[in-house]
Amino acid sequence: MKKEHFSEAEWTVEEWKDAWTIKVGRAYACSECGAMVMVTKGGIGMLEPICCGHEMRPVEKPDEIR
Ligand SMILES: [Zn+2]
Repeated sequence: MKKEHFSEAEWTVEEWKDAWTIKVGRAYACSECGAMVMVTKGGIGMLEPICCGHEMRPVEKPDEIR
């Protein structure tokens, strides 16, 4: 079985680390209903929050969202 979503581009070590580290304060928002989730305890793994049937988008600066 091929993992298709990994074949698009080569990932650097930094990108892997970033993708597999769930950082405190990382936030995701739903563009449909406006719901937002935020990480309050970090860890290692993949976080792909789903809302309204699609993936929530990462929020760069959660403090700026009202
Ligand atoms: Zn939603």
